[in-house]
Amino acid sequence: MARAIMWFRNDLRLNDNPALHAAARECEEIIPVYILDERYLERGQWGFCRTGPFRLNFLLESLYQLSEDLRDKGSRLQVLKGIPEKELPRLAREYRCSSLYASKEYAHEEIQVEKALAGALDTRFYHSSTLFEPESLPFPIGRLPDVFTTFRKQVERYAEVPEPLSPPEEIPGPELPDTHIPSVESLGFRLPPADERAVLQFKGGAVEAHSRLDHYFWNTESLSSYRETRNGLVGAGYSSKFSPWLANGCLSAREVYHEVESYEKEVVQNKSTYWLKFELLWREYFRLVAMRYGRRIFFPGGIQDKKTEWEESEDAFEKWRTGTTGDDFVDANMRELLFTGFMSNRGRQNVASYLVHQLKQDWRKGAAWFESLLLDYDVYSNYGNWMYAAGVGNDPRNRVFNTAKQASVYDGDGAYRRLWLEEPENDTLAFANHYFERQK
Ligand SMILES: Cc1cc2nc3c(=O)[nH]c(=O)nc-3n(C[C@H](O)[C@H](O)[C@H](O)COP(=O)(O)OP(=O)(O)OC[C@H]3O[C@@H](n4cnc5c(N)ncnc54)[C@H](O)[C@@H]3O)c2cc1C
Repeated sequence: MARAIMWFRNDLRLNDNPALHAAARECEEIIPVYILDERYLERGQWGFCRTGPFRLNFLLESLYQLSEDLRDKGSRLQVLKGIPEKELPRLAREYRCSSLYASKEYAHEEIQVEKALAGALDTRFYHSSTLFEPESLPFPIGRLPDVFTTFRKQVERYAEVPEPLSPPEEIPGPELPDTHIPSVESLGFRLPPADERAVLQFKGGAVEAHSRLDHYFWNTESLSSYRETRNGLVGAGYSSKFSPWLANGCLSAREVYHEVESYEKEVVQNKSTYWLKFELLWREYFRLVAMRYGRRIFFPGGIQDKKTEWEESEDAFEKWRTGTTGDDFVDANMRELLFTGFMSNRGRQNVASYLVHQLKQDWRKGAAWFESLLLDYDVYSNYGNWMYAAGVGNDPRNRVFNTAKQASVYDGDGAYRRLWLEEPENDTLAFANHYFERQK
């Protein structure tokens, strides 16, 4: 009898999950597993916790939803804390599994884990987070165009986004222990308090993801004006806010893409609907850049191997990350990030440019701070965008943002800055202080 482990990673969903789909088709019994990788709960190279409390909380909520969805199919998610390449072979022995199914990742550390597992088990990896099957692209990965527009034109013309897969009818398996998901506190963090100024009270899981998608597309038809509103700074309506669910795989990029196409048929096809697909192509592109360049996306000189010299100033960096630089637009954005785990795309571009070009600090430190705090942290989009901002990525130009000018264009009445520069509620402040203490 074929029994397999389905190892969930950044694909916390039953819908459109190619690895799960294949396991259900090919195996008689499935053991669904998630491993909280201890290494991601530790501090990284720059001293910040790699997974901060916002993202951890969102992840645990997503796991909770996944476990409910699996339960409805007759299965029990096994959640463990440890090192995947140790725990998974052990579980495979314990449950006498002949193979392991999982979604593929493309960054260095994740690839090392995949290699270690392949040495111990019969592993099968699937592309679950991309729009396209990389093998079906009109160029080999080694020839990925270095300019986004060239890439975009080629895929728009020659590549197809596969239809999303339906979830398995049932997920049979042996009797398994009940699911136990740890709390944020039991993992050593304080639960972030809700900040009513946040763009959205994000909650993890596939059900919440689909309800946001229904809201943004079908209930409010906000998609029809996405192109005009997407540079906004305040409130839930200015952009889709799908990113945390996409990063954890509660929602697949293919589902979003095809939902846009349905919307285009049923409501309207305009520049805005095109632009959302355009942004999904940026997300795709950064995944392919990681596939092509491997570890170089983490190097100081980025994929260009550019000679870079940064000034090392603890003081400048502290001011940046605590939102006390004195530049009110930068500070407002950094405080929003600190208190909510989210920042608009406009904000991210400005604070990244400020850190790199004004304060002349190593971009990788900024990327690591984002990694710790962002709800939607995704290694490819984060490092890809940071390299871009630092002029060591796909655009070699130094794109310096004039933050005062940007503030006057995008926050002309100052409402955004007033919102975030005012003194926060006591519990928010206590939480932020606790978080900083933890980094010391
Ligand atoms: C310095 C910097 C760091 C960033 N780090 C991340 C990150 O860790 N994770 C992340 O998902 N995005 C990152 N972004 C990209 C972008 O800011 C967010 O994807 C976006 O703000 C999320 O909000 P939204 O879902 O409402 O986006 P929307 O504007 O509604 O866009 C829809 C989706 O398209 C994708 N997308 C949009 N813009 C980009 C972009 N520039 N690059 C890649 N994908 C994009 C996202 O998946 C997003 O959810 C970063 C941008 C910068 C400048």
